[in-house]
Formats: sequence, C-alpha cells, structure tokens
Amino acid sequence: MRYLMPGKAEQLVYFLKAVSALEDRGGIVKGDKKPLKICSGIYQVAGPDMTSGQDCCVYLICSEKEMALIDTGCGKAYKSMILNITRLGFEPEKIRTVLLTHCHIDHVGAAEFLRKDYGSKIIAHENDSPPLESGDQILTAAFLYGIRLKPMRIDYKIRGETEAIEVGKLTLNILHTPGHTPGSVSAFVDTGKLRVLFGQDIHGPFHPDFGSDIQLWRKSMQKLLKLQADILCEGHFGIYTTKDAVSTYINGYLSHFS
Ligand SMILES: [Zn+2]
Ligand SMILES: [Zn+2]
Repeated sequence: MRYLMPGKAEQLVYFLKAVSALEDRGGIVKGDKKPLKICSGIYQVAGPDMTSGQDCCVYLICSEKEMALIDTGCGKAYKSMILNITRLGFEPEKIRTVLLTHCHIDHVGAAEFLRKDYGSKIIAHENDSPPLESGDQILTAAFLYGIRLKPMRIDYKIRGETEAIEVGKLTLNILHTPGHTPGSVSAFVDTGKLRVLFGQDIHGPFHPDFGSDIQLWRKSMQKLLKLQADILCEGHFGIYTTKDAVSTYINGYLSHFS
C-alpha cells in the first residue's frame, strides 16, 4: 500500500469533499453544449440537449447586470447550467429572481440550490406552491423522474392574474395560464422591437394527477395568442422565432386537443 504524503492526503480529502458537494449540487459538470443567445439580453442556459436529458429548457434574462432565470431544470445538471452562465461572462450571484413556471420537477429541481448558493428569490404561483412546499412527489411529477423532491421554500407567491418584476431595465410580465397545472404561469419580456414569450409546457401534457384542466388551458392559450409574441421560448421543444411560428405552434396544440 502506498502512503500518501500529508499534503496529498489533504488534497484527497478536499477532492472527495468537492465531489460529494457536486453530487449534492447536481452531479458532475458536463458543460459540453454551449449556451445559446436568443436575442439581446436573453439566453438559453440549460435544456434536454444542452445539460441533462431530464432538464426543461432554462432561460436567462440579463439587463444592467441583474438577472432572472425562467425555471431551473431538474437539478441533476445544476453545475453544468451554472458553468453555462459563467461561459456567457455573467456572475450567477446576480441571479436575483427565479421564476418557477409550474411545480414539475424538471422545472424546479435546482431552485433550492440557487437560493442557497446565490440568494436568488424563488417565485411561483400560489396554486402550485403547496406541492413544492410539502414535497409532493406526485403533483410535482418527481416520481416519474426518479428524483426525491425535498420540500422547498417559495419566497414570493403570485396571487393575481398578472405580476410584473423588474430585471434591470427590462420588465418580466407574468401571466397566470392554468391548464397543464393549476398554478402554471407564462411570462413575456419586450426587448428592443421584440416580444419574447416564455411558455413552458404550454403543450401539456394533461393528466388528472397534475390537476390539469383543459378548459382553463384553452382560455390560457387565447391569452398567449393575444400577446402576438415574436419569439416563443418553449419548455422542451426549443425556440420559435417568428410571429407566425409562435401562433402556428399554439394553434396547432389548440386544434390537436379540440
Ligand atoms: Zn410540466
Ligand atoms: Zn416540463
């Protein structure tokens, strides 16, 4: 057996601690897929083809060095997402706000890491907050992903139909769009001449275990169509970059579920 020099032993302990910290904070860093700039101040920093196959698409809004994240991914590739934010030249410490568009694990799994590591404020609609606060494995779909969701704190609950949050010079406009879940929200930002809509899981699926309501969903989709967004940043299927592509996408699902 080889004996480690004291210095090396310390290094080994440090290394093992670092590895276990990584495991607690979203596994080993992959970082092989680069983040994507969508338009001025808006980026994709995680997603199924970017960080973990179980992640939703995660979007970063940055203005005047203030940042907000739309969703967080499932948590398994948290470090890869943080690496992508630093690759863009941004400091994760500036993530003031994390908007959880609904309570599903693929969207909320890294929220607690962000709050603990960077003091980010976690925001969700009041209708989807109880399953997050209690760690409900079914309503959060955690059981489907083989992830144990720990109860989490929601720092601010959206109670009305709309809410506006300042991110530097930009305004993150939030709309209650129930259907997929009772507390699903969508958001949009007007930047330059573009209206960018963040519509996570507006494609469904709809299931009684999620508390889905297809009638409410139809009304929610009408609200989104009225926005006439130029860009849709979707939760699992990527980015749609013309007004027509956005309305075709939403109308396609409306006729599919008619
Ligand atoms: Zn979902
Ligand atoms: Zn999803």
